[in-house]
Amino acid sequence: MNLARHPRVRLAHLPTPLEPMERLTRALGGPRLWVKRDDQTGLAGGGNKTRKLEFLLGRALAEDADTVITCGGVQSNHARQTAAAAARLDLACELVLTRKVPGRPPAYEATGNVQLDHLLGARVHLHPAEGDRAALMADRAEALRRQGRRPAVFPTGGSTAVGALGYVGAALELVAQAADLGLVFDHVVVPTSSAGTHAGLLAGLTALNHPARVLGIDVEAEPEAGRAAVAELAAATAAEADAPDVPPGAVHVVPGYAGDGYGIPTDEMVAAVRQAARAEGLLLDPVYNGKAMAALIGLIGSGEIPPEATVVFLHTGGLPGLFAYGDSFADR
Ligand SMILES: *Cc1c(COP(=O)(O)O)cnc(C)c1O
Repeated sequence: MNLARHPRVRLAHLPTPLEPMERLTRALGGPRLWVKRDDQTGLAGGGNKTRKLEFLLGRALAEDADTVITCGGVQSNHARQTAAAAARLDLACELVLTRKVPGRPPAYEATGNVQLDHLLGARVHLHPAEGDRAALMADRAEALRRQGRRPAVFPTGGSTAVGALGYVGAALELVAQAADLGLVFDHVVVPTSSAGTHAGLLAGLTALNHPARVLGIDVEAEPEAGRAAVAELAAATAAEADAPDVPPGAVHVVPGYAGDGYGIPTDEMVAAVRQAARAEGLLLDPVYNGKAMAALIGLIGSGEIPPEATVVFLHTGGLPGLFAYGDSFADR
């Protein structure tokens, strides 16, 4: 395995803390629960995209880009972290955001991440739900090139094999940290959306021959497509990192917790966000970690994660999203 040969810009506060969740462990009456605080990567509110951006922007700067274009939903945490990184690196930033989530109140387009995108100086392009993000970004890139600019284009979630190297690095960091603490963990629970986080972790843990099972919680209501995306990206990431192949049997995507779809609240999500807040002072988010925590609670309840297990929950950030979902928490 070799990460050092890849161009990288340092943006994240690393290592992120690895902390026990003692009260939640007691409340759920089973496995020992720890949390890896990738909500604390430090850049403009933090989150999992910062690790990916270190490698994506390392490559873009090596290729002499002067602008970054990326995409996502209106409340994309990836878009916000990209806007912040671009500001730090003196790059222009354009964000192609689609109105992917139906039925949200007006606050959804005025607060949370999209408010911060504007604050961070990005140019925001809002499009209807059915907009083809890749095509819209290609159009913007072409228009900028005609003006003599040099855009780099990152797909949804920054989930390329290069971006996922950030989570190969996170796997190494986690295993070293756990060893220092004398902690033996056998499950990692992570929300899975554009697949880069899950794929990078798997490639890293596989390269270390670490036996932990990575459970990716589907938040898209498309677990089969998610599984295929993780398998494909894990293979590409392992190749990029000169690491061993990830066996297809190692890819686990858990269905049943996404509700009606991406960004659509569920009762279990609201309950899980409240429980984590009140037991641990931990702020999850409504789109990713709230559903992943609901899944963790469900998997403990059903015995799929047994009481003798030790679980690391990867907190991937997303706090600004809470403010775009005030309506879901109005009944306090
Ligand atoms: C993007 C994101 C995820 C999902 O990570 P992927 O690499 O896209 O699967 C999870 N949590 C938060 C807060 C995110 O912003």
